[in-house]
Amino acid sequence: MQRLCTRNCRLWKKNTWVFGIKYATQPESFWFKRKMRKQGKQQQIYSSFLVLDFEATCDRGRTIEPQEIIEFPCIKLNTNTCEIEDVFHQYIQPKEIPVITPYCTELTGIMQEMVDDQPYFEETFIQFQKWLQKTGCWNSDNKSIFVTSGDWDLKVMLPKQCQLSNMHIPSEMKHWINIKKAFAAATGYFPRGIIDMLTKLQLPHQGRLHSGIDDCRNIATVLKTLIDRGFVFEETSHLDLDKS
Ligand SMILES: [Mg+2]
Repeated sequence: MQRLCTRNCRLWKKNTWVFGIKYATQPESFWFKRKMRKQGKQQQIYSSFLVLDFEATCDRGRTIEPQEIIEFPCIKLNTNTCEIEDVFHQYIQPKEIPVITPYCTELTGIMQEMVDDQPYFEETFIQFQKWLQKTGCWNSDNKSIFVTSGDWDLKVMLPKQCQLSNMHIPSEMKHWINIKKAFAAATGYFPRGIIDMLTKLQLPHQGRLHSGIDDCRNIATVLKTLIDRGFVFEETSHLDLDKS
């Protein structure tokens, strides 16, 4: 009899533990919200952030026309766990002006051989949209939003590139969070850029500045820190539909 009680007690403890793990990780649950409050976290409006940071052709002291995207990185960050769940990363061969300037290589670390033989933007953008679908970021249960540092990526560069490539901009890419504006709302300080945000938060910079994928990882670090401190992110910017 005593053995049976002990066994049942162990089973009850095990089931409670499994129940706890299962429900404590569901964003809508009481336990999840209590855990977040204890950690100073708040529940976010969005389940995922898609951190995006294009690099494009450039030259010192002049604007290259037409400017083309040569690095296309995107990181999917789960806002509940603060884990990076998926990464899209592709270097792109510029079509109109195929030669990368020495200044561009110096700034971004992207060398000529890194873009030669890579796909053009058109193919990459189709692959990216397939990747977006695969991630399930806009499934019925999920609400996701792009995050960039500044408004240039989605307000200027993507519309210019899509016009050049005669491609349609998906509606999901017409709304985003400019992390610099969000940072200002969270801290009262408008940062100049990624390094400035990391410095203010006393966090180390990783990788190379103006490498698209490294910039994404550093933006993700800032996002995680502000989530941990209880800041709730909201959309800051959108593309004027008349001009898209
Ligand atoms: Mg960059």
